[in-house]
Amino acid sequence: MVRVEFLGGVRTVTGSATLFEKGSLKWLVDCGMFQGGKEIERKNYNTASYHPRDLSFILLTHAHIDHSGLIPKLVREGFRGKVICTKVTFDLCEVMFRDSGHIQEMEAEWQNRKNRRSGKQGTAPLYTVKDAEKSLRFFSPVEYNEMISLNDGLKVRFQDAGHILGSAIIELWVEEGGEEKKLVFSGDLGNSGQPIVKDPSWVREADFLWLESTYGNRLHKSKEETAQELLKIVQEAIGHQAKVIIPAFALERTQAIIYTLGQFMRDGHLSSIPVYIDSPLAISATEIFKKNSDCFDRETEEILLRGENPLDLPDIIYTRTTEESKAINEIEGPGIIISASGMCDAGRIKHHLKHHLWREQSHIVFIGYQGEGTTGRRIVDGAESIRLFGEEVAIKAHIHTLGGFSAHADQKGLLEWLSHFENPQLEVIVNHGEERNSMVLAQIIQERFHLKVSIPRRREKRVLFTPEEKPEYEKAVEEKVVPEETLHLLLRHLDRNYKRLRRKLKRWKGMGEEAHDPHRLKQLEEVNRRIEELESEL
Ligand SMILES: [Zn+2]
Ligand SMILES: [Zn+2]
Repeated sequence: MVRVEFLGGVRTVTGSATLFEKGSLKWLVDCGMFQGGKEIERKNYNTASYHPRDLSFILLTHAHIDHSGLIPKLVREGFRGKVICTKVTFDLCEVMFRDSGHIQEMEAEWQNRKNRRSGKQGTAPLYTVKDAEKSLRFFSPVEYNEMISLNDGLKVRFQDAGHILGSAIIELWVEEGGEEKKLVFSGDLGNSGQPIVKDPSWVREADFLWLESTYGNRLHKSKEETAQELLKIVQEAIGHQAKVIIPAFALERTQAIIYTLGQFMRDGHLSSIPVYIDSPLAISATEIFKKNSDCFDRETEEILLRGENPLDLPDIIYTRTTEESKAINEIEGPGIIISASGMCDAGRIKHHLKHHLWREQSHIVFIGYQGEGTTGRRIVDGAESIRLFGEEVAIKAHIHTLGGFSAHADQKGLLEWLSHFENPQLEVIVNHGEERNSMVLAQIIQERFHLKVSIPRRREKRVLFTPEEKPEYEKAVEEKVVPEETLHLLLRHLDRNYKRLRRKLKRWKGMGEEAHDPHRLKQLEEVNRRIEELESEL
């Protein structure tokens, strides 16, 4: 019997985490941070239904913070198990966690300054850079396709998910009643044919599959169409001596844009244009990408073999310091600025938006998913103005959404990947998607594949691999109440109810003849008759 609790990343895209319990063994699959505004981020502080000290391991699909970001918090609170992930995920977590710790410290400091002014108490950061660094000691990186034996007959294997470099689909085998059962976690599933990374691996069998649904109700434009759109935007910006602003997450999409711009230049479609990589995290991530070329797809490998660098451009400018970043906005002429965060809620991108949203000739190009409640989502949804640094900024620039650059499979991609499963007893647990996206995908899976599908809620619990699944409360009653106690309890209830009824009847009697409802009298007669009957039987 395996107990499961859905802790996050269900009916929403962030906070991915599932808790498992088998006997005395407890573990997590992913340990993500909730992101996208104060309301949702409060969940990061919620004490979960386990103690981090009791976890034996965390299986981590990939380095994105919405899957990995609470690991330093768990270590701070006593986690001493192993974090099992691929080597590249470990490398990327190293830079991601430091950055995240830094953000947590800054936010707490800002909040504390505010608290002091209003006479409130201080708050501690979710975790610090130090906690982030300490947490790296617990990582235990593995190779793709390697079968790893864990405690209590558990086996695990990581397969390429083709989402970001190092990302994995996790296969987990659990011994149950002498039989081997299999759980599969899609993690974030890649968009086939995207630059640099390989396409997602196929899996053919599972008893339960956790399937992401970020784009469960949408289709991306083709890669060629998307690339042509980007090329047109850049050419127009060059013609108008204007800037192209690309909000991007540090991992993957920045490198995909560099790769695509390089391809335009290699093909002779684009002359050189200054490209600013304005995110220290993106710079470090690009370095890690360069070191791990063995994970690249065939096309990227071929470019390397020709002696070219797919992650370099003739006029690429990396800006690490804030001063360098600010200086970009003083430079006249055309240019492409790639900056984080991808959903425009934090980081340097906000400064670039403030400088360019109101300019009619600037272009803002969204290439990643814009979560509900984020600044990016409001811009994409057509807001006329937006508040940045306490100032209302008009939106006059050209706004573009290029879904084809997404690192996530679209609806077609998800269904195609699912079609490789061959066993009809498979149950699909749809997660990692806004509620309506998950629902649309779940319905199509039911209709097309005739599989059992569920969309769990946060904090929902389930028991896997039991012949009949009884609700938790029924089991609790069965376990705790022995027969002698039942009679004892029943008599106590009877006694208490009789006394209450007596009190009410007394009041009723005092209310006079006209209040004595004939229906009530009949009910009382009935009760009296049942008591007499029972008494004579006993
Ligand atoms: Zn991801
Ligand atoms: Zn994700």
